[in-house]
Amino acid sequence: MVQTVLVAGGGSAGWITANLLNAHCRRAGRPTRILLVESPDIPTIGVGEATVPTIRRTLKDIGLPEQDFLTSAEATFKTLIRFNDWNPGESYDHPFDRRARPQTDRAAGAWGAGNGLAFDRHFSALTRLADHNIAPKSPRHPQYQGSFPYAYHLDAIKLAARLSTFGRERGIEHRLANIARVNVSPEGLIGSVETDQGEILTADLFVDCTGFRSILLGDALDVPLQSYAKYLLCDRAVTMRVPYEVYRPDRILTYTKATARESGWQWDINLQSRRGIGYVYSSQFLDADAAETALRQFEGPHSESLEARHIRFTSGKRVHSWRGNCVAVGLADGFLEPLESSGLYLIEFAGLAIASMLEDFATAPHATVRYYNRIMTDLYEEILGFLNLHYVISTRRDTPFWRAATAEDAIVDDLRDRLELWRHRAPTQFDFPGADRLFARDSYEFILHGMNYVAGLVPGKPDIPDISPLVDKARHELPEHEAFLALLQRSASSAQTA
Ligand code: FAD
Repeated sequence: MVQTVLVAGGGSAGWITANLLNAHCRRAGRPTRILLVESPDIPTIGVGEATVPTIRRTLKDIGLPEQDFLTSAEATFKTLIRFNDWNPGESYDHPFDRRARPQTDRAAGAWGAGNGLAFDRHFSALTRLADHNIAPKSPRHPQYQGSFPYAYHLDAIKLAARLSTFGRERGIEHRLANIARVNVSPEGLIGSVETDQGEILTADLFVDCTGFRSILLGDALDVPLQSYAKYLLCDRAVTMRVPYEVYRPDRILTYTKATARESGWQWDINLQSRRGIGYVYSSQFLDADAAETALRQFEGPHSESLEARHIRFTSGKRVHSWRGNCVAVGLADGFLEPLESSGLYLIEFAGLAIASMLEDFATAPHATVRYYNRIMTDLYEEILGFLNLHYVISTRRDTPFWRAATAEDAIVDDLRDRLELWRHRAPTQFDFPGADRLFARDSYEFILHGMNYVAGLVPGKPDIPDISPLVDKARHELPEHEAFLALLQRSASSAQTA
């Protein structure tokens, strides 16, 4: 039996994984000791503000009530990503809500470029509701449920802080210390870690959540990173927080804005009291000063007083996520640039998979490690292909960055054949083998049709089911986003005063 799990690192990866493991072990009646060690000196990455709908299942699994989460992580709802200028002057949405229905599936299959209609508007109610800033749920819905699929925008630092108190109250042991040394046996297993406070900590399983440093799996066990830089050119970000006292937008949006820029793209995320913005760019084509100047120009003169942060990253993954008795989660394992908010999803997936495999690891360690490594590699490659799609089908050729990002050799191999097919026909379910994919046919359709990639095959207009009644009903029944948030803030402050 796995008696002790040591989680190294207290960012989103560390605290989500520790809480998932703790919740699963408690539910299974297993007395597994979960110990988390985090540095008091090394800050967390502090970004990671947009999520995908699985986050609801994860938080529920952990046991954190939704209202508590929304308040403590300063979260807002996210129902889609709005892509601007990925083809010059055009805009389209990637919403969370195309439900598989035979009639809509047939119409979606017949869709092709050149019919003059916007795919997202006809197949997703959320795209239209986003224009009216409607929340995906009302306060009457049970927690983590709504009328439509939804995710959140959140403050990553506040989420980790809340998960820290929540987890410690439920028995997760905690040390604030730097791991100064990792002791590895001649067989390649981690025997213990030593902290700068002189403690020697042992465990049956070590979970490396030390961020890009990857001090256990990367440094101590020497597992190299495989770079995806050939397919995802961006490797830097400059970010800024824009408090509403400095600049208040007209509305707190229910969507992430992803706007293509000269050498990458820019995110814009609305939280309860501030926006998070960031320019993700390629250092081959832009230097840090120019990127910061560009971000300030996009934002306007009010950004002059605001601090900018510069972050370096590589899109890539350790060649093995798990070696011996050490598994890496989060940035310590890998990273895919944040265009589709997959960072926290990868952590959720890994945390759940490890929780469900703890017993397997005790009984059949080699098979467990091999199997886990295979599913993580598949997952990274699946997401890599989907991110790559956004760039390679763009019609932008206006800058050296866009010419490089759309070049023939920047296309992921796995995508190449399908792209050739999709030139002539819309995607079908057979183009996406494998159960439980993060990005399957629905998501691909929104990107491919949103960017007018698929040539029309069916003459005339496809027989599109009318979703207007659904949209009207939702507008009538659901509150505006800001009204929902105001109610939430009122009930949080009355709970505090009570
Ligand atoms: P970190 O936050 O870096 O935490 C590392 C932890 O390890 C810290 O607690 C640190 O103190 C500790 N540590 C390090 N060394 C030691 C040591 N020697 N001893 C003890 N402790 C140590 N994801 C999304 O889902 N959505 C997004 O919108 C998104 N945007 C992103 C934008 C950018 C530019 C980047 C770079 C990432 C983004 N991500 C996003 C990814 C997301 O930020 C991360 O996946 C997530 O925050 C997890 O980080 P982490 O916990 O792995 O690492």
